[in-house]
Amino acid sequence: MARLAQTADLTDVQQEILSTVRSFVDKEIIPHAQELEHADAYPQEIVDGLKELGIFGLMIPEEYGGLGESLLTYALVVEEIARGWMSVSGVINTHFIVAYMIRQHGTQEQKEHFLPRMATGEVRGAFSMSEPGLGSDVAGIRTKAVRDGDSYVIDGQKMWLTNGGSSTLVATLVRTDLGAQKAHQNLTTFLVEKPAGFGTVAPGLTIPGKIDKMGYKGVDTTELVFDGYRIGADTVLGGEPGRGFAQMMDGVEVGRVNVAARACGISIRAFELAVEYAQQRETFGKPIAQHQAIAFQLAEMATKVEAAHLMMVNAARLKDAGKRNDVEAGMAKLLASEYCAEVTTQSFRIHGGYGYSKEYEIERLMREAPFLLIGEGTSEIQKTIISRGLLKEYGLER
Ligand SMILES: Cc1cc2nc3c(=O)[nH]c(=O)nc-3n(C[C@H](O)[C@H](O)[C@H](O)COP(=O)(O)OP(=O)(O)OC[C@H]3O[C@@H](n4cnc5c(N)ncnc54)[C@H](O)[C@@H]3O)c2cc1C
Repeated sequence: MARLAQTADLTDVQQEILSTVRSFVDKEIIPHAQELEHADAYPQEIVDGLKELGIFGLMIPEEYGGLGESLLTYALVVEEIARGWMSVSGVINTHFIVAYMIRQHGTQEQKEHFLPRMATGEVRGAFSMSEPGLGSDVAGIRTKAVRDGDSYVIDGQKMWLTNGGSSTLVATLVRTDLGAQKAHQNLTTFLVEKPAGFGTVAPGLTIPGKIDKMGYKGVDTTELVFDGYRIGADTVLGGEPGRGFAQMMDGVEVGRVNVAARACGISIRAFELAVEYAQQRETFGKPIAQHQAIAFQLAEMATKVEAAHLMMVNAARLKDAGKRNDVEAGMAKLLASEYCAEVTTQSFRIHGGYGYSKEYEIERLMREAPFLLIGEGTSEIQKTIISRGLLKEYGLER
């Protein structure tokens, strides 16, 4: 993969990090991914390896024990990891979003309390907005926290927590009914610390078992049930209630760059598999890559990989430069995830019948790609964000 998905103007440090991660992916992830995925087994050894490489603290500032790297470095690392196995990037993604939210919005005490232990991977983050009755419509959250002296009491049910069981810190968005007219101004993020595991993990806090999924296996996805769960008022992210929606949207915005990066990683792998297979498989007396119909598929796939990579890099660089990237991150996520679904399907078709066999990696990629159309906001929600941003920018003066 010398030619595709290259990134201009990387520093020596960035190049070194990426080459270390790439060789870790080739040696420690790709050879084991199929077996672990088919067994739906948690990739503990791989996670331990990532801890050793410092990946859990990649974007955490150096003063808190992290590597202090940029969103771009992070996104390129995620692209490499997803090329090996998307579930592994899922293990670090929610952790990264929560660390980012604490870094951006936490009180000084919260930063000191969590960030050093998050940098080592000792504390592992998950984030929770979705509920059984809502995902896109975040402002409609029903789980409710009621103030009681120095504490809040939380009741309600959350849904679809990536790393719900393996995490020890869940940034959770709930209603606090502050009397604001706009529903989203009544939402507050709580930093819920809990032991890892399933069942009733603390009084009033239950993590039922793993949700059985089509793909994205290995990584645990769970519900979270609050039943009279009492939590200190000092666990409100940033100290003040009512800011949760904006904090979460900031987190999800960097998460979108991350999902775009994952889509790029899967697409790169799907292309690699297709270009190799197309030169080995012969029909009608020649390798199928020499049939123009297949060669053109490869050209299309590579062009999609390249376009998605460039948009993802652009969105990450804008955020790193302190500029708004809501529209660009939405575009990158939309394009990269839609292209990923197309590129994996094209690769699958090039594999003929073998693509349908569990012995071939493309079978797994086919089950992973659809999640990217949904996570961190569906394609419809990205189009809503993009069009809203553009209509503001290009609005007619009346
Ligand atoms: C494997 C997995 C892991 C996840 N991990 C997490 C996590 O860690 N934390 C978390 O909080 N959530 C997580 N989610 C939830 C995810 O964010 C939601 O599934 C997603 O936001 C979509 O919400 P929904 O499923 O409720 O669909 P809905 O919001 O019910 O949407 C259903 C359909 O209607 C469309 N739609 C909705 N509103 C509109 C509109 N206004 N205009 C046009 N079309 C619309 C959607 O695009 C979609 O096609 C995860 C989901 C999955 C599958």
